[in-house]
Amino acid sequence: MNNEGVFVLITLFGIFLFLLRRNKKTKWKNPTSNFPDKWRRILIKEVNFYISLSAKKKKLFEFKIHEFTENCIITGVETSVSDLDKVLIASSAIIPIFNFPDWKYSNISEVLLYPTSFNEKFETNGSDRNILGMVGTGYMEGKMILSKQALHHGFKNETDKKNTAIHEFVHLIDKTDGTIDGIPSLLLEKQYTIPWIELIHKKIDDIYNNSSDINPYGATNKAEFFAVISEYFFERPKLLKINHPEIYKNLELIFKQKMADKNLLKTSHEINRNDPCPCGSKLKYKKCCGKE
Ligand SMILES: [Zn+2]
Ligand SMILES: [Zn+2]
Repeated sequence: MNNEGVFVLITLFGIFLFLLRRNKKTKWKNPTSNFPDKWRRILIKEVNFYISLSAKKKKLFEFKIHEFTENCIITGVETSVSDLDKVLIASSAIIPIFNFPDWKYSNISEVLLYPTSFNEKFETNGSDRNILGMVGTGYMEGKMILSKQALHHGFKNETDKKNTAIHEFVHLIDKTDGTIDGIPSLLLEKQYTIPWIELIHKKIDDIYNNSSDINPYGATNKAEFFAVISEYFFERPKLLKINHPEIYKNLELIFKQKMADKNLLKTSHEINRNDPCPCGSKLKYKKCCGKE
């Protein structure tokens, strides 16, 4: 073979490797094991969104959180990562995109879990640590940082309209069009964009005038408003629909979920030992996921 032939071969091989890598990056691998029973027990106890789903949708939710944990590493920094942590992080990722059948997070490969809040240098001590979660940029691109405390609080407290992990994943969803700006262009049809921006400005003004029940952090900018109002939408949808019907309508369009129709309160899902198991197995709860 002459030099030219060798050159062509090497070039072709290079292109082949490049395509292979690129494909690898965007293609998520399927879970290879069964969904852990232990995780199902956690979902039933801790994740209201899961409990509110039909048996068929519950299976889909399980698959999606399993898939997420197989494709995104969760690393503890100065703390361990428990099954509970994994299930809650993956649930936060899946809840906002649950009704998008083909959605794969392409812009995250690792979640770093910190024990408490941290500062801009990712230090967990000192007086300036007030960050509960963030989406990395620059050398932290593709990473998300979450405080374990805030992660757990988000699922424990059902009324405060706060869920830090959902907040951060909404930033990632916002980012898929290239910018974190409060306008998820891929999800919001063009004709709705301007009314959406106007509505955000109006609601931010209300926060400044102290006449709003929306977390004041949402007044920081449009991107934070979108993340903060999404926490409200996924935790207190019925209240959001009453207090901010226009916002509610827009979020229903963006996330393609009728959240206000769901029954999310834990107390209304209390399970007796003899009740059918909420996982859909048709066994009694005490003989299935409620087994000690
Ligand atoms: Zn934010
Ligand atoms: Zn069960």
